Amino acid sequence: MSLDTFRSEIRAWLEENCPPGARGPGQIPTGSTKITIEDPDVSLWLERMASKGWSVPTWPTAYGGAGLSTEEYVVLVEEMRRIDARPPLIGMGNTMIGPTLLEYGTDDQKERHLPLIARGEVAWCQGYSEPGAGSDLAGLSTRAVDEGDHFVINGQKIWTSGAQFADWMFCLVRTNPDVPKHQGISFVLLSMDQPGVTVKPIKLISGNSPFCETFFDNAVAQKVDLVGELNKGWTVGKRLLQHERSGMTSLVGSRRTEPGSSSLAQVAKEFVGSDANGAIDDAAIRTQVLTHNMNSAAFRLTQRRTVEESQDGNTPGPATSIFKMYGTELEQDKAELMCNLRGFGGYGWSGDNFDEDAKEWTRTFLSSRAASIYSGSNEIQRNIIAKRVLGLPD
Ligand SMILES: Cc1cc2nc3c(=O)[nH]c(=O)nc-3n(C[C@H](O)[C@H](O)[C@H](O)COP(=O)(O)OP(=O)(O)OC[C@H]3O[C@@H](n4cnc5c(N)ncnc54)[C@H](O)[C@@H]3O)c2cc1C
Repeated sequence: MSLDTFRSEIRAWLEENCPPGARGPGQIPTGSTKITIEDPDVSLWLERMASKGWSVPTWPTAYGGAGLSTEEYVVLVEEMRRIDARPPLIGMGNTMIGPTLLEYGTDDQKERHLPLIARGEVAWCQGYSEPGAGSDLAGLSTRAVDEGDHFVINGQKIWTSGAQFADWMFCLVRTNPDVPKHQGISFVLLSMDQPGVTVKPIKLISGNSPFCETFFDNAVAQKVDLVGELNKGWTVGKRLLQHERSGMTSLVGSRRTEPGSSSLAQVAKEFVGSDANGAIDDAAIRTQVLTHNMNSAAFRLTQRRTVEESQDGNTPGPATSIFKMYGTELEQDKAELMCNLRGFGGYGWSGDNFDEDAKEWTRTFLSSRAASIYSGSNEIQRNIIAKRVLGLPD
């Protein structure tokens, strides 16, 4: 089928099947069995997209995907954006552990886990960081002991995003403490719904609790859920981070995570005014907005070129650190500009003196500060780019 025919078929299908409640800002399911979906349109959209394999468009059809080529995937993204359709599914299942299992999983692991992810029937969380192991992740000490057909796990993880809503965790554990640290780590999958796992949400100043402490007290991971070889989990764990850092999924998802619908230029004109030509009436602010918009456009095009140049839409290697670092700095830059443009009203947190859009942007500004920490801090990304991409000496 030609790409043009493919586009017109997709366009017609989306027009007919994307319900109103799945367009514009709103809830995007993570697959969690512990989160209620309020709007039936959201469930219907997921069900319809999953039935076409378009919740995970590039995955093989055998595992719930549609086996789309990179070009077809880009067309699907463009057509979804055209009607302002939200992605039907987000989360660590389709963006992180799914692609990792496609590369490293056994047939049995793929058959058991991937279709559930594709249908949005399971949510995953990431058990990497520990109180004594963040940037130095390989220093982790959560211990897994081989008990024949399963491992018994004891220890603690921290900053586990969404652990309170997750059904499963992918987790790095120490299986051999007597070898150099990178060589004694394994990558396992375990159910969160078992007596040996306790989750404690971390209370934040904002009252929200997007992440948790996770404690293992004789928790069990089955041997059939060891991904890759025993003690070779560092390789699998690093690859998963590349999927996380690539931001490839943001080709589909990013726009709908921002509050409001006004662009930087619209907000600038509202608060600074426009000149006779309709341009922002302040040369310095005009330059700031233009620079941001040009950098964003260049970034999106680079992401897209990378996807199009890759053999099968697959995530690149250490170069993903560039996307993580630059993408998060752009996100922080935009949130800061959005707040600054509003002047005194720009950092309103609560109360009637600030409109909802301003309050949302203040929250976005505050939460964007975390973007240069999670998924490996931006200092660590600079180290990776220097060593693994540019080949600079240690
Ligand atoms: C919002 C959010 C969500 C998160 N979600 C998860 C999750 O779901 N699962 C999970 O496992 N983890 C998660 N994390 C944890 C995250 O991966 C770690 O916070 C991160 O890797 C940094 O580790 P750390 O906090 O221990 O800081 P540290 O490692 O103690 O670093 C402190 C500072 O020192 C700098 N630094 C450290 N080493 C170096 C070096 N070699 N060179 C240069 N600078 C260095 C760092 O850049 C940082 O600025 C999340 C974090 C945040 C903020």
